[in-house]
Amino acid sequence: MSITTRLKEIRATLPEQVRLVAVSKFHPPEVIREAYNAGQRIYGESRVQELLTKYESLPRDIEWHFIGHLQTNKVRYIVPFISLIESVDSIRLLDEIEKQAGTAGRKIPVLLQVHIAREEQKFGFAPDEVEKLLLSPGLEQKYRHIRFSGLMGMATFTDDHVQIAQEFKGLAELFQRLKGQYRDDSGSFSELSMGMSDDYLLAIEKGSTSVRIGSKIFGIRE
Ligand SMILES: *Cc1c(COP(=O)(O)O)cnc(C)c1O
Repeated sequence: MSITTRLKEIRATLPEQVRLVAVSKFHPPEVIREAYNAGQRIYGESRVQELLTKYESLPRDIEWHFIGHLQTNKVRYIVPFISLIESVDSIRLLDEIEKQAGTAGRKIPVLLQVHIAREEQKFGFAPDEVEKLLLSPGLEQKYRHIRFSGLMGMATFTDDHVQIAQEFKGLAELFQRLKGQYRDDSGSFSELSMGMSDDYLLAIEKGSTSVRIGSKIFGIRE
């Protein structure tokens, strides 16, 4: 099956308000071009060097999302063009994005990554940490060059759908609560990024607004 056909099939299952992020990590630019020609404009990458190479060689109207663990010393390379950093997992990283975005004269949209899985996860905030951060006084003044656009999370790697559904539901409830409490000037806290190739329909059922799909579009990664 071609990428174009797979994209069409996936799009047919998405409600209109749900965004599709095509996770193109590990796949070469030619493959992205095929998806681009099929109308796909948003891509997710998880490594800075790989993203830079692709950014240089592909059309400029692509919206690049960073979805992997981002080292602070690499922030400055992606800040000039990144559309959304979905994987902000520490205050230290937030501070560095603020600094680099200030230098670049941009306001960068970010999602805070929350660890919701039962398994040990290396990266992400605990739910109560996210809450504390977003509701802390003076947040807007401290991070003038950051737009807090929502949350991102990944479920436990398991076949247990009940478990996955519970984790998505927990994240969606946190998101709704914060959306009600966190008020910025533009009301931009609106994105709940959850769901990958194997669990995206479940994620949508639980309230996802953006799904990150890789292997179901591009096939198995090497
Ligand atoms: C790789 C990756 C995906 C895509 O996973 P698939 O199972 O191939 O759809 C989604 N989100 C994140 C954060 C990833 O690292």
